[in-house]
Amino acid sequence: MVITVEIIKNENMQNRKTIEKILEQMNDKIRKLENAQWWEIFQKLIFPPVCGICGKLNNNYLCNKCNFELQKEAQLKIDTYVTEIGFQRKHFDEHIYFFRYQGLIRQQIINYKFNNEAYKYKAISNFILKNFILKDIMAFQLLNDYEVIVPVPISKKRFKERGYNQAELIAKQISKALEKRIVTNCLYKSKNIVAQSTLNKQEREENIKNVYTIKNQNILLNKKVLLVDDIYTTGSTANECCKILLKAKPNKIGVMTLAKD
Ligand SMILES: [Zn+2]
Repeated sequence: MVITVEIIKNENMQNRKTIEKILEQMNDKIRKLENAQWWEIFQKLIFPPVCGICGKLNNNYLCNKCNFELQKEAQLKIDTYVTEIGFQRKHFDEHIYFFRYQGLIRQQIINYKFNNEAYKYKAISNFILKNFILKDIMAFQLLNDYEVIVPVPISKKRFKERGYNQAELIAKQISKALEKRIVTNCLYKSKNIVAQSTLNKQEREENIKNVYTIKNQNILLNKKVLLVDDIYTTGSTANECCKILLKAKPNKIGVMTLAKD
């Protein structure tokens, strides 16, 4: 997949050069995403890759048919929380997401998160990378502007039960493609709480209070930080995480999730 410069025909020269440079960066990252490293090739020989949605053998973890089905549901959305006069309605500036939490993607996220189907993360992450982040100049610039990526943490207890942190797997794939540092030693979930999905908005806000802690704040000082999670429901988890992240005095905080409920 190569992005062409067709769309910039009518731009003036200076703009054209800037856009060409950005497109080159995007193409370079797509090439890297598509060219597997030797250990990935080795891994593929032992565990042949399957499409994360339908389970059929597929080298890119997502077959064309499932890619097409996901495309029908996907749309890049950005919710901004800073007003023109600088007033901030949440502890983060913007929320970027790709799906509404319904239909095919909802079922996939549920299986990914609760039914021990961790392998699905590659299909969904690669889908948003190839269809949005490394395809759409606006999406690329928006996300490439962040310097570090922080996945929403889960508690030690939950990690032991599940064996993986679903937000971290997505964040890893995004950080690898954008060549950004993933930071997992700053934000911690120090308490195991009742699952947010079983509560209403007000209960969620109460439930999530004071469960996150921050360490190694210097890593995030003056950095543009992107918090990554799988779903955004009422926003209480993202908001609470960002409230704690702000203690490290980052330059900017944004949130990216696969879907918004
Ligand atoms: Zn498929």
